[in-house]
Amino acid sequence: MKLSNREQLLSFCQARQVVEHQALRFKPGAAEKVSLNRSLARFLALPIRADRDFPPFPRATRDGFAVQSADLATIPAHLKIVGEIKAGAAPESMQRRLLPGEAVAIMTGAPVPVGANAVLMLEHTRRCHDGGIEALRQVAGGENIVPRGAEAGEGQLLFDVGTRVTPTGIAVAASAGYSTVTVYRRPQVAVLATGDEIVPVHTFPGPTQIRDSNLHSLAAQIELAGGEPVPLPIAPDHPRELRELIALALQHDLALFSGGVSAGKYDLVENVLKEFRAEFYFTGALIQPGKPIVFGEAEASVKPRRKRSATVHEPVKMRRVPFFGLPGNPVSTLVTFELFVAPVLRALAGGEPAPLLFASARLKTELRTPVGLTRFLPARMSGGPGSIEVEYLKWQGSGDLVCASRANCYLVVPDDRERMNAGDEVSILIFGSELR
Ligand code: AMP
Ligand code: MG
Repeated sequence: MKLSNREQLLSFCQARQVVEHQALRFKPGAAEKVSLNRSLARFLALPIRADRDFPPFPRATRDGFAVQSADLATIPAHLKIVGEIKAGAAPESMQRRLLPGEAVAIMTGAPVPVGANAVLMLEHTRRCHDGGIEALRQVAGGENIVPRGAEAGEGQLLFDVGTRVTPTGIAVAASAGYSTVTVYRRPQVAVLATGDEIVPVHTFPGPTQIRDSNLHSLAAQIELAGGEPVPLPIAPDHPRELRELIALALQHDLALFSGGVSAGKYDLVENVLKEFRAEFYFTGALIQPGKPIVFGEAEASVKPRRKRSATVHEPVKMRRVPFFGLPGNPVSTLVTFELFVAPVLRALAGGEPAPLLFASARLKTELRTPVGLTRFLPARMSGGPGSIEVEYLKWQGSGDLVCASRANCYLVVPDDRERMNAGDEVSILIFGSELR
């Protein structure tokens, strides 16, 4: 769906579909090798494979005794202790075959000797005067042992290209011997806050000015999503300055503009973008907060890498750069980033698509809203497995950052739902649901 310079207001689902569809076209930059410890939240450009069997030997998962389960058919059963194997023991210690009636003391993480098929937990034994043990419980074959290669076989693919590196992923990569991993370059995301009333955080605001919070929330969201935020100076609501800064923003992999996309007289971003031959995929979504969200692509000149001789005249190369115009209200900026920017940024960072993840919860208190907009209201979920409850937070609208900061999820109100009763099963969207 491509539209030129026309108002295009989509439903939430349509807008999200457009974003997901467009995201498939965006490719990541070059690959680079980074230290494993610097790879968090990046996306793999080369797969990670098991360099050996996991585990590399049949591994005891409990402290106790390696036994033959058949010996414990009748309990209590007396067993003779014929040795001890601790974690990291010499490989020969597992080669001595365990015979019927024998047990070997074994520790968690140690290799189980040949001939043993179960580990009896220490707690289920009693020491005998003759130095042996009495088994007080039966064990099933295989109990408390992870067979060699059961978690992954040598050469097996552990993580494919496009996987996001998580703390668990780092642990797996470390186990497989990767001290470095090859990931995609982080996309550079320009952040341009607009508005005559906006001042930088280090400036004391005048009576009618407010500090720029969007630059900082966006920078944080970009970093979490695997991008590199590039903050630009705040743009006043003036076409000439705005044009210069938009041109600068379009020199990056993705450009995010905050503010100036509503219908007000000084909301100039869309008009200035048209001067960059912008194509708008949509210019609004039927959501609250964040209705004026704009998504499209604009043209930017490609800066030559090296200065050529002044006599050589090369035609200026142009490329298309995706952009989002995010509504300036701080909660709208936060929400629209999660709903729409994240998939595009993820694609540019080399990530496989990750659909939004919704969960269901019981609504604590009744809620009435006019129909027509899909709402993502700041809310708090609580409770435990199988009994998640959610409470929407009373807010002063989409500028109420203080309320939003107390939320840990969004309550999703479908666009045709006028009333939700206490006790109703409702959908929630958990923050950072794409960070997988
Ligand atoms: P706008 O989208 O430009 O109409 O702005 C909507 C509301 O968001 C106004 O109250 C602005 O003052 C506020 N706002 C715009 N940009 C920012 C920003 N960078 N940081 C904090 N608030 C902002
Ligand atoms: Mg504004």
